[in-house]
Amino acid sequence: MLWDWLRVCLGGYRNPDASAERCRYEDYEKDRATTVIVTHAAVHVDYAVGGLLGTGGFGLVKEGLHRQTQSKSALKFVFRKGLSKNDEELFLMEAGILTGLTHAHVVEMRGFYKWEQAYCLAMERMEGGELCEDIVRRVFYSEACARRIILQVLDALAFLHRRGIIHRDLKPENLLLVRRGSEYVKLADFGFAAVLSQPTYKVVEPVGSPGYAAAEVLRVMPYDGQADVFSLGVISFVLLSGYLPFGGVEGTLTETVNATLEGNPPFDEVQWSAVSDAARDFVEALLSPSPSDRPTAEKAMFHPWMKVQGNTLLSRSLSDRRFGENKPLLEEFQGLQRRRLKAAVGAVLAANRLHKFLAAGHEDRGDEAASRHGDQRRQGG
Ligand code: ADP
Repeated sequence: MLWDWLRVCLGGYRNPDASAERCRYEDYEKDRATTVIVTHAAVHVDYAVGGLLGTGGFGLVKEGLHRQTQSKSALKFVFRKGLSKNDEELFLMEAGILTGLTHAHVVEMRGFYKWEQAYCLAMERMEGGELCEDIVRRVFYSEACARRIILQVLDALAFLHRRGIIHRDLKPENLLLVRRGSEYVKLADFGFAAVLSQPTYKVVEPVGSPGYAAAEVLRVMPYDGQADVFSLGVISFVLLSGYLPFGGVEGTLTETVNATLEGNPPFDEVQWSAVSDAARDFVEALLSPSPSDRPTAEKAMFHPWMKVQGNTLLSRSLSDRRFGENKPLLEEFQGLQRRRLKAAVGAVLAANRLHKFLAAGHEDRGDEAASRHGDQRRQGG
């Protein structure tokens, strides 16, 4: 059924045979693995392939310039050799989901290519990079800015949830900025997304990233889009306070999961004294342990915090120290960035580990040293 659905969604993708005669467009690169991936003729007919934009769990993302329209794109290449059936399905699912989506705050998909060695997903290029990278370049960071970003993500989530789509991996790395220094953000990486055949249905598979995943996901209970709302609660907490609520940047997998299950995010009084009461109330609502106590994404857009006059909201210096610690907030954001780099390594391994960990009722502590939660890119699935 999944394949039937994907065939419908991907109906427009290119037939590799049709492009075989265009091999003169092949572009040979130094790195052998990369060469195999990026030399497919059809991609090169349509795009001039440029430098590396980022690496993900399954492959790499390169710059692409659409030859005909000259529009800047991002080309996500996934090497098929060694890709498990499950991971292949996840990637095709991502392509299938993005094919049907057009929203101001969801990264636009522009094409899909499939050939023997690899897949390539062409997307609009988000020139501003990841949100956290942008924050570490700033000196001051304001509550009003955090609110503008959160509102855009809520808008995207409300749109997705109305269509029965759950993103399931909402975290700062997956929020990309349209331009450097802008506050225009789009949601990317639908590699873990799920589509509910009825908007009222739920899924049960534990998928997401520890530290951002909701308690019901970690408890392997049925869940829906409210799990995304919780993850946005974690992102909002980070954007407003500068630190992660569950497990911290260096927390182990056990610490992170247990802190999420306990469900008492530490609102450090000094840190949160620089944040309005309305903002704190918003974050607490999104982080409610019970999904039914959380506002839906649609409702959260009308939370009183959204109506507070912008000029009454607070701004803080990123060189402010965090309560009880001698390091500036900026370092916490830099910690998030480092975590992302670690996360790119051993993602699939980490997935299996967390799955086992959850299945063993959290008794599996043997892997803990290796499973600092920065390594947990893929969690089950
Ligand atoms: P994976 O799903 O395999 O983890 P991602 O989709 O997260 O891969 O992409 C990996 C990285 O590539 C991102 O974190 C980002 O830095 C970069 N990237 C992904 N998509 C785009 C895009 N549309 N524009 C610019 N950079 C992108």
